[in-house]
Amino acid sequence: MNILIVASECVPYAKTGGLADVVGVLPKFLKKLGHDVRVVMPRYYVVDKEKFGLKPISGALGVPMGIIGEQWCGIYESCLPNSDVPIYFLEHELYYGRAELYNVGGKGFIDNDNRFVFLSRAALQLAKKLDFKPDIVHANDWHTAIMSMFLKTVYKDDHFFAKTASVLTIHNMQYQGVFYAGLMDVLGIGWENWLDVEWMGQVNLLKGGIYAADMVNTVSEGYLQEIKTPEYGYTLDGVMRDKGSSALGIINGMDYDEWNSEKDKFIAAPFSESDLSGKAICKKTLQEKFNLPVKNVPVLGIISRLVEQKGIDIIIEALPAILSLDIQMVVLGEGEPLAHEVFLKAAKDYPEKFACKIGYDHALSHQIEAGSDFFIMPSRFEPCGLNQMYSLRYGTPPIVRATGGLNDSVDNYDEAANSGDGFKFYSLTSQALYDTVGWAVWMYYNTPDKLKELRIRGMKKRFTWEKSAIRYEEMYEQALIKHYHINQNI
Ligand code: ADP
Repeated sequence: MNILIVASECVPYAKTGGLADVVGVLPKFLKKLGHDVRVVMPRYYVVDKEKFGLKPISGALGVPMGIIGEQWCGIYESCLPNSDVPIYFLEHELYYGRAELYNVGGKGFIDNDNRFVFLSRAALQLAKKLDFKPDIVHANDWHTAIMSMFLKTVYKDDHFFAKTASVLTIHNMQYQGVFYAGLMDVLGIGWENWLDVEWMGQVNLLKGGIYAADMVNTVSEGYLQEIKTPEYGYTLDGVMRDKGSSALGIINGMDYDEWNSEKDKFIAAPFSESDLSGKAICKKTLQEKFNLPVKNVPVLGIISRLVEQKGIDIIIEALPAILSLDIQMVVLGEGEPLAHEVFLKAAKDYPEKFACKIGYDHALSHQIEAGSDFFIMPSRFEPCGLNQMYSLRYGTPPIVRATGGLNDSVDNYDEAANSGDGFKFYSLTSQALYDTVGWAVWMYYNTPDKLKELRIRGMKKRFTWEKSAIRYEEMYEQALIKHYHINQNI
């Protein structure tokens, strides 16, 4: 298949979340399955042309933008690192000539509507310019969701896209791209399609994308089921329910080259499921690094964007009770100012038990995964989640709220059956979190042999992109069948 994947971010060029990881890795695995895959994204200032070896493609690309008129951009080309998957960057000074991707100081750019409508339309125009006839156009999140609507409206009678089916991946339902109704005239899709994108009198780009896409998927099965409910659907639960069999859940893979405890250059000593002695060295080094007493107590790790989604409020609420246990706790993250304040104060008040680093630190994230005994992730919702997968691989059983990808990827410890690889709780309360931490801590002190077995079970688990890419391939095939049937009016 010819597959055109379009997204607002992609590792290693520009990343704010898990979306970038998927877009940077999935295409390589699809390529290995024999497909011709191309990726398109904006050329923000953070995408360094020299560092990433971007080469200009001659000729500007014209992009219709409704009443704004035609806009032009330059195109650069490169390949995803260690692959021959082409990636194209759209250079438009007015839209993308900024260091940040979406916002500054927590405020979204006021032209985010035009910036991402442009991306969605330009990617399709680029396919024509390159004479790359896609079988599949694969959009990601609200930024590019409207591509499927473009295919069903402005390109409806365009022979170039006659056989093109569309797929939309939802990495996070909370962000939907809601803008003023007048954006319809920029989209140029015709007011007869208003109801497909309308949401409380405004344009909702994600809603339009969900309706128009031949297939939709989320990044875990659990999250798919959740967003069909009012609690998690952020008002689009009905739209998701309507998709029926056209919506799937496909769990993300993780990068086992980067997160390999036997070869990790960031950690103090290597370790594996057959020899955990290195993990004890990693723990001691972590305690020293955070100026905590080096002693035999369970170390609880947290690495997180410290925001509501990550359940930061219940961590804050449960903190005094958790710190009354015989444990140590290390936190790495940045986000809500209140969380920074609480954690910095706890570090002052409990210097023997609690330490934190406010900020983003890649090396330290590896060291915490390797050196902790347990990893805490009490998310309010979690489309997939990566840290719990890293924790499993690093023999650091995750303590998670049973939601979305966390529920799908962690098996709860069952004492009677001696099975499972982590600890789950269901209700989003500080009490449930505290009780579950208490359960894990009890196991640390009372049944260490069983805990070791549990660690090893987690280390042996695999979430590979090989497996997930095959599921994407199957979804593309389903999209082609649906597209064919719709076109034949079957
Ligand atoms: P989300 O994409 O919602 O932030 P995930 O668990 O899917 O959550 O992925 C988060 C990624 O970002 C992981 O790779 C995690 O290790 C990393 N990360 C988050 N916060 C930090 C931080 N402060 N320092 C280093 N890495 C971080």
